[in-house]
Amino acid sequence: MQRLRFVIFVFLFPLCWNIVFMFWCNEIRNSKSLVEVIIPESTKVFLDSIGSRIIEGVDNVVVVEIDSIDKNSWTNITDYGQDDSDDLYRYEIDSLFVFYSDLDELEIINDIQQYAIEAIEPLIEVMGHYIYPYQVRGRKLPIYICNKEETYQKVCQTLTHRNTDFTDTWGLHVHAYCGLETQTSGVILNKGNIYELSNTPEIDLKATLWHEMNHYVFFQSLDLSKELTPYVWMYEGLADYFASLVREQTLLLSESQKQSIMKNTLQSSFDPYTDNYSGGELFYRYFEMQYGKQDVLTLVKSFYTMSLIESFNSMNKDVYQEEQQWKEFVKNNDYEQENKIYK
Ligand SMILES: [Zn+2]
Repeated sequence: MQRLRFVIFVFLFPLCWNIVFMFWCNEIRNSKSLVEVIIPESTKVFLDSIGSRIIEGVDNVVVVEIDSIDKNSWTNITDYGQDDSDDLYRYEIDSLFVFYSDLDELEIINDIQQYAIEAIEPLIEVMGHYIYPYQVRGRKLPIYICNKEETYQKVCQTLTHRNTDFTDTWGLHVHAYCGLETQTSGVILNKGNIYELSNTPEIDLKATLWHEMNHYVFFQSLDLSKELTPYVWMYEGLADYFASLVREQTLLLSESQKQSIMKNTLQSSFDPYTDNYSGGELFYRYFEMQYGKQDVLTLVKSFYTMSLIESFNSMNKDVYQEEQQWKEFVKNNDYEQENKIYK
C-alpha cells in the first residue's frame, strides 16, 4: 500500500498535472488577453471622421471600422478580386504585393510593380520603416489598377462599404480597423482617369502610387492604444511631400491660395480640404529646411504614438512658434519650377 502511494505520488501525479497544464495552455492560446486595451475615444473620433468627405480631383483616405478581421482576410484570400466573379485579373508576382486589374496587362503590372518596389527605400528614409507582409500577419499589400471608370467605382465602393461617387478622384487608400487590429484593405488607382487627364500619365501614376503607399505605412504604423491627433494635413501633406520625390506636388501658389492656407492652425485639419495637401506639404518642406531631414523623420515617427502637441514637446519645439514660421515660409514660397520631375 505504501509502495502504491509512492508510485502515485512520484509518477502519476506529475503526469496528470502535465496533461492538465498542456490542455490549459492549448485552450488559452487562442483566447484574448484578460486586460483589454481599448482605443481612446479621441483617437476613435479622428478615425471615424477620416474620409467623411470625398474630394474630387485628389486622392482620399477612408478608414472603416469593421466587426472583425477574420483569420482568412490577413492572407488576401478574402480580397475583392480573388473571386472569379469579381472580373479582375490577379497577379501575384512577388512576395510583397497582390495586383488586381480590370485588363490583362502584365507588362504594365510589371512597371507598376517596379514603381512600388522603388518606393520602399525612400519610404524607410521618410517614415522610419516600411511595413512588410511579415509584420501584418503575412498580408501582402493589395494594389488595384482600374482602367475603367465602373471598375474604379465598384472597387472603391466595395472596399469602403459606401455608396459614394469616387470617379473623379485619382487614388484611394482604404484602411480598416477592429479593436486594436488594423489592416490596409487596399490601394486603388484610377489609372483610366489619370491617363485621360495627364500629359505624363506614367509619372502621375507613379506619384499617385507613392502617395498611397505613404498612407499605407502611416496608417499601419499608428498605435491605436494611444491618444492620437491625425489631422488631415499631417498625413496628406506627408504623402504629397513624399510623392514630390517623383514629381513636385505643390507648385506655384496664388496669393489667395497662400492667404487661405495661412488662415489655418496646425492644431486642426485645414479648411478648405485641399489646403491639407499643399499647406501640409509646405509644412514638411519648411520643417526640413529649418531643421533637416533627420528632424522630419523624428517628427513623423512621433506622430505614430503621440498627439501633435506631445510630438512637438518631445522635440522641445513650441507649436505656436512653428506655426508662425511655417506661415512665413508659405508667404514667401514662390516655387515656380512647374512639372519638375525627379525620377
Ligand atoms: Zn492622400
